[in-house]
Amino acid sequence: LSDRLGGIFDGLKRKGALKEAHVTEALREVRVALLEADVALPVVKDFVAKVKEKAIGQEVLKSVTPGQQVIKIVNDELVAMLGAEQSGLNLLGVPPVAVLMVGLQGSGKTTSTAKIAKRLTEKDGKKVLMASLDVRRPAAQEQLKILGEQTGVKTLPIIAGQQPVEIAKRAMEAGRLQGFDVVMLDTAGRLHVDASLMAEVIAVRDATSPLETILVADSLTGQDAVNVAKEFDAQVGITGVALTRMDGDGRGGAALSMRAVTGKPIKFAGTGEKMEALEDFHPERVASRILGMGDVVSLVEKAAESFEKDEAEKMAKKMSKGQFDLDDLRAQLQQMSKLGGMKGILGMLPGMGKIKQAINQSDMDDKIFKRQEAIITSMTKEERAKPQLLNASRKKRVAAGSGTSVQEVNKLLKMHQQMAKMMKKMTKGKGGMPNLGSLM
Ligand code: GDP
Ligand code: MG
Repeated sequence: LSDRLGGIFDGLKRKGALKEAHVTEALREVRVALLEADVALPVVKDFVAKVKEKAIGQEVLKSVTPGQQVIKIVNDELVAMLGAEQSGLNLLGVPPVAVLMVGLQGSGKTTSTAKIAKRLTEKDGKKVLMASLDVRRPAAQEQLKILGEQTGVKTLPIIAGQQPVEIAKRAMEAGRLQGFDVVMLDTAGRLHVDASLMAEVIAVRDATSPLETILVADSLTGQDAVNVAKEFDAQVGITGVALTRMDGDGRGGAALSMRAVTGKPIKFAGTGEKMEALEDFHPERVASRILGMGDVVSLVEKAAESFEKDEAEKMAKKMSKGQFDLDDLRAQLQQMSKLGGMKGILGMLPGMGKIKQAINQSDMDDKIFKRQEAIITSMTKEERAKPQLLNASRKKRVAAGSGTSVQEVNKLLKMHQQMAKMMKKMTKGKGGMPNLGSLM
């Protein structure tokens, strides 16, 4: 979708005049692109009509090109349709406040439960208890327990043989007795919406009176996710949506129709399997993702967040002196792994659709970082500081030591050189992220 819209608007930019024919033509393409992105047809129709109404007849502003003006109208309308900025969960109640997580099997409920609990604990200083009510899938309760241990969030002790409502009541009781602020209830899913699932969720809801009922939906399932949301809202009543797998290719499309069809706010975006891969839902950013401008803002924010501060300062100092050595590259590689790997990073940069696809297909993503890290680790301290020391025999040694090939060592050295060059330029110029795609 991104590539496609990018192309359309490039075309508009060149045309230089905001005429009805141009708007109509561009919007025909927008319509096709949105449909391809699995946005529901009524939503697309509504969207296109609104934009057309706003665009045609609007005076061309002097300060912008007609193309920019249409982009702005499309963008504003996307943002409006995606809904207002969300500020997380409503937890204003007598503690412990129950948060009910619902959705189909495999949508990402358990993962999202742990991610949200981790965030509430770390960022909001809440005391959170998690409980798995999934008695259907073997080891489902253990899965949450393990995530709890990983994230440092307490989980309700497992008692074999208890039913969901009993567990939920026990969780609320434990929450009360032990002074928890929030009790997160992770429910079981089904492959499809069915009566037994709804009955189970409704019974848990009635036993715990949650302030928030979050539907977890897989953004890659597009239209289906929207239907599931409608169904859950009609039968259980949801207060918000967590859209998972926003790191995949479905992106914007599902978000747009989800919001338009259910009218419920999208409160979270899951962007990977790791516990850190949770973002607020920013309509502005999703709109620009849909428009193919890339989500540079959230990439930069994310980088800033997970970058240890002093390390960042040290790096900046070195970069400005043009001393970016292989130790620094190794630190960067480790940093990239934290950001959710290449997939995570590329997904947020503009115009990277093709490269991303290639990486997804080859599944080299994190493995490549590990190999590159291994290569650098196999070098001596001296070699890392002065890569030019690496002659043929040293390269052979490093390749053998890291279980790679001389070719791979060369490739890494070349990448390092290019990066060092670019960083030197960047620190002199305006800054910005290096073009990672061209370095792979
Ligand atoms: P549940 O059945 O709804 O509880 O789903 P799980 O939480 O067990 O998740 C199913 C799978 O989806 C797991 O392998 C998760 O790691 C993965 N997953 C969950 N959220 C995301 C996400 O935002 N992005 C990606 N790529 N994978 C996710
Ligand atoms: Mg689960």
